[in-house]
Amino acid sequence: SANILEVEDLHTSFFTRKGEVKAVRGVSFDLAEGETLGIVGESGSGKSVTAMSIMQLLAHSGRIVGGSVRFDGDDLATLSDRQLRAVRGARIAMIFQDPMSSLNPLIPVGKQVRELLDTHTDMTKAQAKERVLELFRMVRISEPERRYSSYPHEFSGGMRQRVMIAMALACEPDVLIADEPTTALDVTIQDQILRILRRLQAELGMSVIFITHDLGVVAEVCSRVAVMYGGQIIEEGTLEEIYTKTAHPYTLGLLNSRPRIDGDRDERLESIPGTPPDLMFPPRGCAFADRCAFARQICQTTPPEVTQLSETHTSRCHLLSPDAPIENNPFTELR
Ligand code: SF4
Ligand code: MG
Repeated sequence: SANILEVEDLHTSFFTRKGEVKAVRGVSFDLAEGETLGIVGESGSGKSVTAMSIMQLLAHSGRIVGGSVRFDGDDLATLSDRQLRAVRGARIAMIFQDPMSSLNPLIPVGKQVRELLDTHTDMTKAQAKERVLELFRMVRISEPERRYSSYPHEFSGGMRQRVMIAMALACEPDVLIADEPTTALDVTIQDQILRILRRLQAELGMSVIFITHDLGVVAEVCSRVAVMYGGQIIEEGTLEEIYTKTAHPYTLGLLNSRPRIDGDRDERLESIPGTPPDLMFPPRGCAFADRCAFARQICQTTPPEVTQLSETHTSRCHLLSPDAPIENNPFTELR
């Protein structure tokens, strides 16, 4: 199917007093109509900055310094502020980890969702209210009539996130970007929210970008996965390829640090030792070299090229190159 979003060689930097932080360094991906793409990585990998770049909502020190974001055929950088406001929130909507930061504590939640419809549609007040109640039912908020007049602090964290989803869906967006929407919630509530998102995605046929640090969460909702590290996509593939034909040491590490599916879900098998690179001084070679158990001389000096493993599967790692050694190489079968 057609692509609703095309991100091409995106570079985004933050200009601080100490220097330029190259937070996103050449990210490219497509989002097809109706698909759910997971963007996975640790904090600081560039996932959220990629999302904010797509929304053209960077903090004042942040700037897109290269590449393009095409939405429904238009380069978003060429739109006027007015055109951009019509896209943002209405055609591309976003939900965040902390709903409280996006809700006004002084206004009843129903009214806040209705105001969005006042801005973006020509519904009457009565029609808009009816639509808000319908949205509350869609996200399974019980007693929507009563909840319409409640204030944000009267909701639990999970219920506030449902309000945010209702708000994001109010104008029937083509693309929903969900940035760690369940990270702050406990496991039971997290599962409920994921189920709601999965059902609504299927019912409404929208495209979703789901940003998370948790590959377990991705498996619940996504059909395709892009793994980010050090401001780059280091592996991309279908869910099955990422899980069963893993082709990057960092992805292997993420899979091994997944919470156990049996027993206690907070128990990590092992976490990846070390810390992500300082993107004010990006590494000369592979961004993961300092933490990689398979790193060789070339990894310190030469950035790995993208290797195409299938029509849908790519990896950025020297071990995938045809002349890489067989010893200490978990990927020899994939080449
Ligand atoms: Fe590890 Fe080298 Fe591959 Fe980077 S290129 S992930 S350092 S083996
Ligand atoms: Mg983030």
